[in-house]
Amino acid sequence: MKNPLIMTPGPTYIHEEVRMAMARPITNPDLDASFFEFYQETCSRLKEIIQTKNDVFILSGEGILGLEAACASLIEPGDRVLCIDNGIFGNGFGDFVKMYGGEAVYFKSDYRRAVDVALLEAFLKKDHDFRIATLVHCETPSGITNPIEGICKLLNQYGIISVVDSVSAVGGEVLKADEWAVDMILGGSQKCLSAPPGLTFLSVSPKAWEKILNRKMPIIGYYANLSHWRNWYQEKWFPYTQPISDIYALRSAVERWLMDENPIERHKKIAEAVRKSLLDGGLDLYAADGFSNTVTTVNIPENISFQALYQTMLEEHNILIAGAFGFLKDKVIRIGHMGENCHEDKVYLTLKALDQVLRKHGIQPKVELHKAFISYM
Ligand SMILES: *Cc1c(COP(=O)(O)O)cnc(C)c1O
Repeated sequence: MKNPLIMTPGPTYIHEEVRMAMARPITNPDLDASFFEFYQETCSRLKEIIQTKNDVFILSGEGILGLEAACASLIEPGDRVLCIDNGIFGNGFGDFVKMYGGEAVYFKSDYRRAVDVALLEAFLKKDHDFRIATLVHCETPSGITNPIEGICKLLNQYGIISVVDSVSAVGGEVLKADEWAVDMILGGSQKCLSAPPGLTFLSVSPKAWEKILNRKMPIIGYYANLSHWRNWYQEKWFPYTQPISDIYALRSAVERWLMDENPIERHKKIAEAVRKSLLDGGLDLYAADGFSNTVTTVNIPENISFQALYQTMLEEHNILIAGAFGFLKDKVIRIGHMGENCHEDKVYLTLKALDQVLRKHGIQPKVELHKAFISYM
């Protein structure tokens, strides 16, 4: 492998400090009392990022495990679950709901726009017989960030437990979980926090615990059963051996994030400059509103294929950009400007390469993308 610059919306570039943290000597995490403290402190740091006082856990498995653990632990057969769907992840959440016996009721909205809280409010006025709702903070394939503040406050008014997939947003978008009444936030290590792939972290509110601990039907499965984590600290017992090296790396990445002056502002500023320079160049963004501060999704111009763009970026510039999947396959490219990727130098190189690759393939951006980018910084 040629160690390309990975400008994808996860995994993201990993800082050397974080990479070296993985090489630290390990201990036996089930027996060494100091590791329980280390794990607990790491969760406390994550609480600062999520802005919550609720319990936070780190589980061994990428972001998807967080989604599955929330569904497995909360949902009982027959539960009606509201699945807020304005994209591939929002829709896919419904599949997890059904897997665990829930009845998925979709609130569907425009896939090119952020969820409209007023429309959701009108929907809920007519039908609010739900204990749980699933939603997505940032729809990574389309580059759209949803207004979870308005959505979760609204769900809370109806006593509905909000389960928010914030995997590609936490650390890159404003998030005030407690102020916004978010019951469960789900995150992953490899996106905006820029730790290696392999961990998910999640928060559980008292309202969510009440549902998890007072089910009529037992939770199916073991690994995704959050009730095992309820008293891990008091009992000094983990449900399974912790991936200690991954957690060392996550801790290092989290410390870097907390020491950063204003990471959320940095994401916002770079994302805006990326969008403006692409638009100045005459390119077309997939999103019509709700533009994400962590990933930008660009429609592929006519007369060029995703494969050609991707290959030339990689072969001639050693930069890895992403496409998308599902209905967006081969239709868009995505630049992940999240976490450690979200720095002026890396984004500049990426836009410079993209500018050259487009010209090479006969597409003339109206301005030089990288120069426009710098002018907005
Ligand atoms: C990346 C991502 C996930 C988790 O996917 P993994 O492959 O497990 O990392 C979940 N939801 C969203 C919105 C994501 O962007």
